[in-house]
Amino acid sequence: MPTRLLMDAGHDITVLYANSNIAPAPEYERRLHELKRYADIQGFEVLEGAYEPEAWERDVAPIGEALKQYSPAFGEAFASRQAEDDDPPSEPGVAAPTTVAELLDDERRKERCRACYRLRLEEAAEIAREGGFDALTTTLAVSPYQFTEVIHEELIRASEQAGVKPLFQDFRPYYDEATRISRELNMYRQNYCGCRFSVQEGEATRAFIKQQRKARKAAEAARREARNAAEKGARDEKAAQKQAYAAAQAKKHAILKELRRKKAEGSGEDA
Ligand code: SF4
Repeated sequence: MPTRLLMDAGHDITVLYANSNIAPAPEYERRLHELKRYADIQGFEVLEGAYEPEAWERDVAPIGEALKQYSPAFGEAFASRQAEDDDPPSEPGVAAPTTVAELLDDERRKERCRACYRLRLEEAAEIAREGGFDALTTTLAVSPYQFTEVIHEELIRASEQAGVKPLFQDFRPYYDEATRISRELNMYRQNYCGCRFSVQEGEATRAFIKQQRKARKAAEAARREARNAAEKGARDEKAAQKQAYAAAQAKKHAILKELRRKKAEGSGEDA
């Protein structure tokens, strides 16, 4: 979608595939293949950066490893820190996350992602400078699952460092359309961002959402059951009132009948 928007705006674009973050290697190849297929349809050129997962492991992975202990998505590392912690976290929702952001510990995670954006955007800016490109932008800014502000900052930083003009655009409003188009073109749609950490985060997120949905359904069923029980209680009470009224009326009629009978007998005696 970003490529089409840029082309519609009159830019002559070249897309650089700079993704040393993607693991494992077959996944890297698969996404590259899909990009090339889309580029053929849309009519733009694709350059491939160096695939250097070891550079990503050197510059980014240590941050991710250090932060695992704070994210409930990394069950074991998170549990062992909690067990060792004399002063367990007091913030509500940290031990039992209530949102995906809490599950993934977004506040800290964004530092790992910042290092990842930096590595790739620096590579892109350098290639843009060497290739004499007018400006640099990034398709990362189409995803609502990324840290857009951090991407913006890192794009500016890398561009200024390389002496290239940054052309940041927030493409997130077009995300749904991009999703629709990729479905129509029957493109491969990955279910994790790219790095090995995000594989586990993706799995934890899907399990969390499933569990949230289940909990919502159970709460809804409990509410429905309580509502039905209350309605039945009200109906039963009304029926009991009706029955009591009918019994009182019957008793009243019996007394009146008895009185009338006695009165009739009394009249007979007098005669
Ligand atoms: S989640 Fe995505 S952006 Fe963040 S470190 Fe992993 S691959 Fe990079």
